[in-house]
Amino acid sequence: MSGVRVYALCGGYLELDQSLFFPDRPPGPRYTVPVPCYLVAHSQGHVLFDTGVHRQAIADPVGRLGERRAARFGVRSKPDEEVVSQLALLGLTPADVRYVANSHFHFDHCGGNEFFPRATFLVQRAELEAARAVDPERPGRYAPSAPDFDHPLDYRPVEGEHDVFGDGRVVLLPTFGHTPGHQSLWVRLDSGAECVFVADACYTREHMDRSLLPGVLWDADRMARSLARLRELRDRRGVVLFYGHDSAQWEGMPRAPEPLPSRW
Ligand SMILES: [Zn+2]
Repeated sequence: MSGVRVYALCGGYLELDQSLFFPDRPPGPRYTVPVPCYLVAHSQGHVLFDTGVHRQAIADPVGRLGERRAARFGVRSKPDEEVVSQLALLGLTPADVRYVANSHFHFDHCGGNEFFPRATFLVQRAELEAARAVDPERPGRYAPSAPDFDHPLDYRPVEGEHDVFGDGRVVLLPTFGHTPGHQSLWVRLDSGAECVFVADACYTREHMDRSLLPGVLWDADRMARSLARLRELRDRRGVVLFYGHDSAQWEGMPRAPEPLPSRW
């Protein structure tokens, strides 16, 4: 089996009100969460899962995010905590990335898309279509970030499960609900261990353990079903889940330039 390695990249840090993540906690207290991105190194090319918060948001949050979003989310990233600097830790540039897969089009998951004009973007068709249909003035329940995703990039719509290299090692997994076409990334490591990078299908381990849905979502029933499927993979199949914004898990994992361990 050819080697597959995964590297955790820091796509930034956001400070937010705890009630956004945990609707059963009182609004007021704010805390800071990581925005992870992951680079998968496969013999047929590099796959980047999510591109984090745009680097402009670090120095000029209002200019980048707009007043409302900048008030809701405090950008707490250091200057090198953005995807291009993080790739450099591995000796890579954006031109070395063959595929970018966005979990979804919220600003903290596609902020760096514009830096990958040569990559092929693998995004669920439902996400692409919903994002393109949204009126930015009246976004409704789904507010994709147009300044982040809406660039002339090579977006290839994917429908449902998609085996990126055809060898079962790197597979996109639909986990709809948080947004209309949210997807996760399934990776089989050399040891045979399986990981799923779930992004915002589940913010933290606590959400998984308590079957808790966050305040920000598009369709609660679909999100609950995606959460149940991920839990089954974890509890019945021993798949290791990497949550979307889990500080405790993030603090405990090796990050680029160190790869994730082959056994977890
Ligand atoms: Zn997020």
